[in-house]
Amino acid sequence: MGAAASAGDDCVTFDKAKGTALKALKLMSDAGIPPTPPNFATWYAYATGRIPALNSEIDRMRLAGRPMAGAPMAELHDRFLSGAQERADLVSVSERIEEAMRSLVDNLGHAEAGAQAYGETLNTLSGELTAQADSSGAVDGLQRLISGVVLETNRMLTVNRQLEDRLNRSAQEIETLRKDLHVVKEEAATDALTGIANRKAFETALQKTMQDTAQASGFLSLLNLDIDFFKKFNDTHGHQTGDQVLKLVARMMIDVVGDKGLPCRIGGEEFVVLLPDTGLPQARALAETLRTRVGTKILKNKKTGAELGAITLSIGVAEWAIGEPATNLIERADEAMYLAKRSGRNQVRTQNELER
Ligand code: GH3
Ligand code: MG
Ligand code: MG
Repeated sequence: MGAAASAGDDCVTFDKAKGTALKALKLMSDAGIPPTPPNFATWYAYATGRIPALNSEIDRMRLAGRPMAGAPMAELHDRFLSGAQERADLVSVSERIEEAMRSLVDNLGHAEAGAQAYGETLNTLSGELTAQADSSGAVDGLQRLISGVVLETNRMLTVNRQLEDRLNRSAQEIETLRKDLHVVKEEAATDALTGIANRKAFETALQKTMQDTAQASGFLSLLNLDIDFFKKFNDTHGHQTGDQVLKLVARMMIDVVGDKGLPCRIGGEEFVVLLPDTGLPQARALAETLRTRVGTKILKNKKTGAELGAITLSIGVAEWAIGEPATNLIERADEAMYLAKRSGRNQVRTQNELER
């Protein structure tokens, strides 16, 4: 096997190249043409036949018996072998690179300030590339420029990666903060023992509901619930068991009220239920359901299984008169609840039963 040799754009074996070279030298000798490098390049190309237009031109000249040495040879070399084709290839490559760079620069234009600097560098490089491609012997310069682009690209990739990391970290931090804030807000509005809305949340919700009700000329009712003889229950079964009862009452309120209203714990063993879009009769019915549900539940000690009996509720019901202060509504519901207490407890009373 002969060693591979690179000759111009052809990759041929040593033996084949040597054969072509000898053929070219023979032709030049026959035509009386001195083997200068440009002349040799022209006749070597003729011997390979890789430029058909060159071959037909030489054949035409030989047939016509025209002398070729000197000016005609230089002209042939200029026309067919002065690197015009190579220049054309370079221009097309550089145009494609430039185009790719331009779209890259366009895209980066939307990105951060760091990307802007990168785009400027690429523009400079692509300008140099075009300039280089217009002159002969461009390959070295092109390689240098490509190395420059590669270096600059790698630098930019690193910058982009760092930027992306920072953005990801920032996004994560923001997400964590958002969740924390949500938790803090929820906690601020939630009763720690029962998990239902606390007094603060009740007051906020009442104000908002009053506005909505006034706007819609709708109904708004309020239940006030108090556990009967709860002090005695605590004394008998202990404060911790009392806490379990408070949690149970809260769960039952949520079950019974559902999406019809907002159950809240506004004090030790005092609860309210805010009932938007609810008139007094429906509110009273709901209070009755709740009173019955709680009063018929036989409580058991979770650990011992011992029965603790039942607890009962006294409930007062009031309906908001559009425009009146919130305290009026709260007071009426409270008075109705106390009427229920006075009337024997474990019952529901409404504002309609209060003495005016
Ligand atoms: P009434 O039927 O008149 O409401 O009688 P009562 O004993 O329920 O009324 P009172 O207001 O005199 O007592 C309320 C009791 O509620 C006092 C306290 O022992 C109990 N209590 C208040 N807050 C808590 C709490 O967070 N946990 C427990 N276990 N008990 C509480
Ligand atoms: Mg009480
Ligand atoms: Mg009580």
